[in-house]
Amino acid sequence: MKIIEHFLNGKSYSGDSKRIGKIFNPATGEQTAEVRLAITKDVNEAVANAKKAFESWSNKPPIQRARIMFKFKELIEKNSDELTKIIVAEHGKVYEDAKGSLTRGLEVVEYACGIPQILKGEFTENVGTNVDSWSIRQPLGVCAGITPFNFPAMVPMWMFPMAIACGNTFILKPSEKDPSCSMRLAELLKEAGLPDGVFNVVNGDKEAVDALINNKDVAAMSFVGSTPIAKYIYENCAKNEKRVQALGGAKNHCVVMPDCDLDQAVNGLMGAAYGSAGERCMAQSVAVAVGEIGDKLVSSLAKKVEALKVGPGMDKKSEMGPLVTKDHLAKVINYVDIGEKEGAKLVVDGRNLNLQGYENGYYIGGCLFDNVTKDMKIYKEEIFGPVLSVVRVKNFDEALKLVNDHEFGNGASIFTRDGDSGRTFSSKAKIGMIGINIPIPVPMAFHSFGGWKRSLFGDQHMHGPEGVRFYTKLKTMTSKWPTGSRSNPEFVMPTMN
Ligand code: NAD
Repeated sequence: MKIIEHFLNGKSYSGDSKRIGKIFNPATGEQTAEVRLAITKDVNEAVANAKKAFESWSNKPPIQRARIMFKFKELIEKNSDELTKIIVAEHGKVYEDAKGSLTRGLEVVEYACGIPQILKGEFTENVGTNVDSWSIRQPLGVCAGITPFNFPAMVPMWMFPMAIACGNTFILKPSEKDPSCSMRLAELLKEAGLPDGVFNVVNGDKEAVDALINNKDVAAMSFVGSTPIAKYIYENCAKNEKRVQALGGAKNHCVVMPDCDLDQAVNGLMGAAYGSAGERCMAQSVAVAVGEIGDKLVSSLAKKVEALKVGPGMDKKSEMGPLVTKDHLAKVINYVDIGEKEGAKLVVDGRNLNLQGYENGYYIGGCLFDNVTKDMKIYKEEIFGPVLSVVRVKNFDEALKLVNDHEFGNGASIFTRDGDSGRTFSSKAKIGMIGINIPIPVPMAFHSFGGWKRSLFGDQHMHGPEGVRFYTKLKTMTSKWPTGSRSNPEFVMPTMN
């Protein structure tokens, strides 16, 4: 069986660990590889190497770092089919969706290509008489990233292109469920000319994560995953005096107003709720039907959910692939069981899907619940599967309150033809990313990505301008050159007159 090792100092590295995880193809249920799970000693070795590499990398002019990013961009484009197939083989999502997620990662690399322009500082001549002042942003040192299973290319690429372009070195700890894409990206970075030790991949689980948290030479931690782990990372990184951004789970609402274009809303919801089998942090898992639109919305959705084509990700006819693991499939099925017991109306039941030839794959059909209420577990918790809950409310104010009272605040959308409803929703919703007639409002790379409330612990969102702020620290200089006559010492606070 193939073993996926770590990537340290520009090459494959086994380290001292005998601990191994298993990798499966979700479409068939077959084990395809093993992955090495790092012990603390291996992580510390990676950090020591990255710390050493930082000395010269941080001194490289931004234009030279940008040139490597340009080359990396070219290599991703050249190898996009291979990278996409790796995502499909370990995550299960359908090919075109996997390719789209790679493109969203590539966009961050494209943004990072502009780093010489982005890193330009600020200068004020004559802040006081003959006194100048300027500000620059400098890299932090060794940065680490811990990523979830659901976007094996895109989420790591929210982090490391920005961190590296800013002059840091980086250690990525990808999900142990689908680590191969990160390993291939590491090889491509090397091929692009990135010096050894600047980008490293350490595979592992909680032990590797804890080793990164406890290593004093890791200056900053970026995390994306579930909320309980995000909170754990945030608290423990703060305790260890690290800069931290920790993005957590979500329960994204889509408010469907009575005046909306129903076809647009239904098609938007289908893609946003069932695309990637609902395993997206921006998946719409709650449709809030406002006023009289409820019956029409549910009947239109039901027809489409029943017609969803579920199958292996490499089959061009598949619209939705399997879930990532057998355990995750069992968890999603359990939520559907709970929803029924709680009294929600299961309009479409995808639980007993049986795909001929793929009996051991982790498939479930689309599920649709109506009459879900806010006290139900299936409403309160993130299911992370192809399960859409319809909640019915009387009016816009009730819909907005529902959105704002939920503990998560990643994304939300509204479908309406009314400018006032759209504008009020975008202004008043306590949510990080809003869509108006846009079902999955994931910001482009030159904006930044992040949620509110318990969907993000920390101050800065990811990539874009927020990414630059996160991966650099500000330094401000004030200078005055002698003008010939020596001045006398001053004992009052300088006020720069
Ligand atoms: P997860 O929290 O189980 O795992 C994320 C990472 O944390 C993995 O690398 C994993 O190895 C590590 N980890 C797991 N348990 C740990 C522990 N006890 N201690 C230390 N580290 C641990 O998440 P997942 O199941 O891989 O991904 C799905 C979750 O990620 C969902 O909740 C989803 O909403 C969230 N997500 C959020 C965003 C966002 O932008 N907010 C984006 C993608 C995914």
